[in-house]
Amino acid sequence: MARAAAGGHALGASLRRILCISAHPDDNEFTIAGSVARWAREGRDVGFCLVTTGGAGVNEHTPSNEGLIPIREKETRAAAKILGVKDVILLGYADGTLEPTLAMRRDLTRAIRRFRPDIVVCGDPTVRYYGNEYLNHPDHRAVASAALDAVFPSSETNAIFPELLAEGLPAHKVKQVFISGSLQPDVFVDISRTLRLKCRALRAHRSQVGKGEWVDQLLTAWAVRDGKKAGLRHAEAFKRMVLG
Ligand SMILES: [Zn+2]
Repeated sequence: MARAAAGGHALGASLRRILCISAHPDDNEFTIAGSVARWAREGRDVGFCLVTTGGAGVNEHTPSNEGLIPIREKETRAAAKILGVKDVILLGYADGTLEPTLAMRRDLTRAIRRFRPDIVVCGDPTVRYYGNEYLNHPDHRAVASAALDAVFPSSETNAIFPELLAEGLPAHKVKQVFISGSLQPDVFVDISRTLRLKCRALRAHRSQVGKGEWVDQLLTAWAVRDGKKAGLRHAEAFKRMVLG
């Protein structure tokens, strides 16, 4: 609780660049956007790397989903702008059928070596379900798994994916990993001042949340729940890895 008394986890000044890797266009807004907005406000460079197009986000556009994809890209960019995120990397994989393949790991390694983040933020690939109501989406698990493997060992090892060297992308060592959705979080970021932005950013995903009347209530309830664990009013929880 000593950390909570100090007002939640504060990033060191040397941690300038943060890359958030997620499966779907709205994943960051549901989970980590309060921290993202805070880090951006602190003057850090935050980027999003989204693996899928989000083409399976609603059923109205099936079977082709093509009509939905440009809408989701527009919503993604609007949400990123609200949060102060300048770089959005879209990998364009099909929504709903991801596997943590070597091809995906290579694409994520490329994104990491290009962006050269001090911190990578991703989900927890080990969580199969939460409570009694939510089966963790297979895309979330696949991306989280490939992202961690891209951080270590792929990104920091020149001999892995030598084709990336030929693209002018040498090894890059990520210093820390923030894992969201962990069942054993050990770091709590105070989002009291950015919760409102998080809600606004999620409401930008209109194709997913409609008018979003429930958004503020849901995200506030989650922030209060995670805040309680650390003596904060509103927080987001992470498991933090400091890579040696
Ligand atoms: Zn998702």
